Amino acid sequence: SSGAPDAKNLRVKLVLLGDSGVGKSCIVLRFVRGQFDPTSKVTVGASFLSQTIALQDSTTVKFEIWDTAGQERYAALAPLYYRGAAVAVIVYDITSPESFNKAQYWVKELQKHGSPDIVMALVGNKADLHENREVPTQDGIEYAEKNGMFFIETSAKTADNINQLFEEIAKRLPRPSS
Ligand code: GDP
Ligand code: MG
Repeated sequence: SSGAPDAKNLRVKLVLLGDSGVGKSCIVLRFVRGQFDPTSKVTVGASFLSQTIALQDSTTVKFEIWDTAGQERYAALAPLYYRGAAVAVIVYDITSPESFNKAQYWVKELQKHGSPDIVMALVGNKADLHENREVPTQDGIEYAEKNGMFFIETSAKTADNINQLFEEIAKRLPRPSS
């Protein structure tokens, strides 16, 4: 085969959105490289990584991951970043209610201006910091349910639920008919 995307080999643009510091880059690095570097600096410049996963029905999904370098802070630039994205992963930090509010802002923004069939996942990251939790799991569940999103809590630090996040997204992608 040519390796071109088809019904069994999907290729999708995935963007991450959320407050600076919630762990977006760490989630990507954990998923793609299996690493967590607690000393890593804030992403400078645009970052682009890809990772392919295989599902049980032998479909493969290649995620082309756009990790923002802070463009999302400039509201006017955000649409350039998420344009054409099939998947948006909206991340907050479970120790930061402010970041949960910001996540809700991004959900609304994508509902207004994103692709109509975009798959959205709401992610409560830093689940390992449960002693400092300020956003109850139930709040994430309820908000995601109301907005038709997939919800999961993750830890890029311990790797908890990182692969599950991307597997669940892959399962929810619309399949082109062959
Ligand atoms: P970004 O700005 O959203 O890309 O956030 P980063 O990925 O750069 O992470 C910001 C900070 O949070 C870094 O100091 C990371 O080490 C830390 N961090 C990221 N994910 C986790 C996590 O799951 N648990 C803990 N405890 N710290 C994390
Ligand atoms: Mg980053």
